[in-house]
Amino acid sequence: MAGESLIPRTFHKETTMQTLTLEQETNPWEAQAARFEFAAKKLNLDKGLWKVLSQPSREIIVHIPVSMDDGSVEVFTGYRVQHSVARGPGKGGIRYSPDVSLDEVRALASWMTWKCAVVNIPFGGAKGGVICDPKKLSQGELERITRRYTAELIEFLGPEKDVPAPDMGTDEQTMAWIMDTYSMHMRQTVNAVVTGKPVNLGGSRGRTAATGRGLSVVCDEALKTLNMPVEGCRVIVQGFGNVGSNAARLLADKGYTIIGIAEYDGGLYNPDGIDIHALLEHRKRARTIVGFAGAEAADKDELLTYACEILIPAATENVITSKNADKLRCKILCEGANGPTTPIADDILADKKVFIIPDILANAGGVTTSYFEWVQDRMGYFWTEAEVNQRLDHIMTESFRDVITYAQNHNVNNRIAAYMLAIDRVAYTTRQRGIYA
Ligand code: GLU
Repeated sequence: MAGESLIPRTFHKETTMQTLTLEQETNPWEAQAARFEFAAKKLNLDKGLWKVLSQPSREIIVHIPVSMDDGSVEVFTGYRVQHSVARGPGKGGIRYSPDVSLDEVRALASWMTWKCAVVNIPFGGAKGGVICDPKKLSQGELERITRRYTAELIEFLGPEKDVPAPDMGTDEQTMAWIMDTYSMHMRQTVNAVVTGKPVNLGGSRGRTAATGRGLSVVCDEALKTLNMPVEGCRVIVQGFGNVGSNAARLLADKGYTIIGIAEYDGGLYNPDGIDIHALLEHRKRARTIVGFAGAEAADKDELLTYACEILIPAATENVITSKNADKLRCKILCEGANGPTTPIADDILADKKVFIIPDILANAGGVTTSYFEWVQDRMGYFWTEAEVNQRLDHIMTESFRDVITYAQNHNVNNRIAAYMLAIDRVAYTTRQRGIYA
């Protein structure tokens, strides 16, 4: 990797690190393309397959009219991008956020393809999004947006076609509405059309905490690889949503010391360790982590640069960029979010010898348990939480070891190793199926 740069491809010729704007640096589609191209070159990927895999196979845009509570009609724009269905049905979450864009959904869809391939589950990759602010919408408005979005996409979804799941701004209630809407159109209950459902509607035990659990497993494995003890291992988590809060809780239960939590509305710091169970209680009451008595207030952005053994960005894209990467003081960066690190920040972190557990490996616990949910729905037989967790731990451990071994054998960093492993798997299947033309 030495001397090779990950500056996104379209900027290569005319742009240097000094002239690249933050907007260019943080375009998620360019970020994934930079990693894809780097890994594909290393793999000596056939030019035709390169063209196939570097574009999504289908992009759907819908403009959905919705009756609002005040009697007015609003039109929301939604997307579903299916990047690849080579290894199985499209799979990936649906995001509700004012910042959703087609480029972002495209990037997230391709990351799903690589993520499912890294953990070797039989899915392709897809992602959806609706431009809306769930914090400002009522439950009724959210339900109507969700149902109409599902109805518009009805022929593109299905257990054998494309299977959504929760992502930022959506949850198990959203999945229940999608399942119900799809089932009404099909005239029968089809619970395998989405994952991340409530357990009594065919959801899997263990799914809610699965991404956080997967993160805790790869942290354990990283410590073993680097010969570091759990005792005294300081962790900072950015984001206290489903992913961050479950990761923090499970790591604390394993004996890690969670010294910092950063949320969108403030941060917390306690060098002796934050009692995560007490913080969860506080958050339930106060609806914010701010004001928790068991830690001091800290600047949410500064927290990323505090000294720690493990930093877990578990919020959103582009939180580690050329602007702050050189200030990071973690030994391990475990990516709970999708795309939290820009390609330029990757270069900087490589120089600092930070051990990265890349997003497409680190946060794959969620989709892995989604796979278990889909399997259980299709056979109509449901596993205990212990069975789910045991299978999840096994897949995460094996996948971590596969990526690390690949990195060592090919002399590349962990991120490029994960991409190479994934691209190689998808390319192999695509070649074997042949191009239908
Ligand atoms: N939204 C999650 C992710 O980015 C889960 C996707 C799924 O379970 O299909 O991995």
